[in-house]
Amino acid sequence: MENIVIIGNGISGVTAARHIRKLSDKKITIVSAETDYFFSRTALMYVYMGHMKFEHTQPYENWFWKKNNINLKKGYVKTIETTSKTLHFEEGESFQYDKLIIATGSKPNKFGWPGQDLDGVMGMYHKQDLDNLEKYAPNNKVCKRAVIVGGGLIGIELVEMLHSRHIPVTFLVREDSFWNGVLPEGESAMINKEILNNGIDLRLGANLKEIKADENGKVKSIIIAETGEEISCDVVGLTAGVSPNIDFIKESGIEIERGVKVNPFLETNVKDVYAIGDCAEQHEGIDQRRPIEAVWYTGRMMGETVAQTICDNRIAYKPGPWFNSAKFMDIEYQTYGWVWAQKRDNEARFYWEHKDGKKCIHINYDKNSREFIGINNFGIRMRHEFFDKALKEKQSVDYVLEHLADANFDPEFYKLHEKEIVAKFNQENNTNIQLKKKSWKRVFSTQA
Ligand SMILES: Cc1cc2nc3c(=O)[nH]c(=O)nc-3n(C[C@H](O)[C@H](O)[C@H](O)COP(=O)(O)OP(=O)(O)OC[C@H]3O[C@@H](n4cnc5c(N)ncnc54)[C@H](O)[C@@H]3O)c2cc1C
Repeated sequence: MENIVIIGNGISGVTAARHIRKLSDKKITIVSAETDYFFSRTALMYVYMGHMKFEHTQPYENWFWKKNNINLKKGYVKTIETTSKTLHFEEGESFQYDKLIIATGSKPNKFGWPGQDLDGVMGMYHKQDLDNLEKYAPNNKVCKRAVIVGGGLIGIELVEMLHSRHIPVTFLVREDSFWNGVLPEGESAMINKEILNNGIDLRLGANLKEIKADENGKVKSIIIAETGEEISCDVVGLTAGVSPNIDFIKESGIEIERGVKVNPFLETNVKDVYAIGDCAEQHEGIDQRRPIEAVWYTGRMMGETVAQTICDNRIAYKPGPWFNSAKFMDIEYQTYGWVWAQKRDNEARFYWEHKDGKKCIHINYDKNSREFIGINNFGIRMRHEFFDKALKEKQSVDYVLEHLADANFDPEFYKLHEKEIVAKFNQENNTNIQLKKKSWKRVFSTQA
């Protein structure tokens, strides 16, 4: 019986395993050095914030794996020998495979800052980081201030986590406005305000120079590069992005660059070796996507796809329209399609912001064909199904606005904002778009 080994028990690895099991009775083993069982990484913050226990981040009961005949092995793979199809573990053991799936995820970036390995300095990625945070920042008596370095999605989550325990936070953001490499100016400015309104010491245009230690080798302060200012702190969170966790693959003959190089079938240059999730790097980005996509949904889709290929139905990874979601303090964010930070030549944009400064939508469309390209929603929840369909069908911006009621998730939204949004669009663009009534049946019946 064919022996499938998966390195990594994150969303990519376990999705691949579950789907291979659904499709076949192959032998499956998932290896991980991090935890015994799969957990939802995106829920880690809620454990620290007291909304759930760590056990609640595990979507499957512990008996699930045995019942489904999926073997779990705890251990760190140190090297892969592809000629003999053998994994060598740090603990000394070795293990054979017939087919190997590399699903080893990411690791937090460190840029060689002096002091980056001191006690009290941590990333926010692995379960061990959460344990470290509990140790060094259990409350504001033990941790009088934390400094978070790097203004992306994980950075702002870590800020919110510490803030929930009333720990004063300084937030160093290299850019001159929060996440403005991804967010357009309006949205980025809204999040700057949200961070400041929560009492966070936000430092824009600020880089870390070094981290200083006390006499016990624990962090005591940081120095800001631009100003030389020293800020006392007990914890430093390094959240300046992530990169593929693939150092152990370097000597294996499997082609790597920033990640493990894969073709659209998620195959590497070595026969019977595949890579999926955060650690996989496409030779070329699919559609307008980046070659590496470190997001949850991508890992899940790649896991499903590679399972088909391994079970003799070789199919390419076709992710469809881009979408993502996150939360910036109290403001929920969703994006469907593309709304780049900078407007491109063929694009026209429409921006609406609520007067409370906590909600906005930003629509992007082609200024000649009027084809809808994407939407950012802040503080307003809209339906993924609706936009996915509109993007696949290449609907126009006029269609999207007419059917805003179908896109809407929140009943309050219709009463409060849709009319205002469409009126603003009509006024700015000299159009006469009429809002149509909600038609759930139409949306979902055509999807089935
Ligand atoms: C705090 C946080 C919040 C996030 N929020 C969002 C969000 O809101 N939306 C979103 O889309 N994405 C979010 N992400 C990103 C998302 O969690 C990742 O894209 C996803 O978890 C990656 O899954 P994966 O299976 O590819 O890898 P991982 O989940 O990283 O799993 C890989 C596993 O492989 C193990 N491993 C690595 N090397 C070895 C080895 N040599 N031997 C044995 N085991 C090894 C690792 O320890 C790890 O357990 C967030 C990430 C973090 C950290």
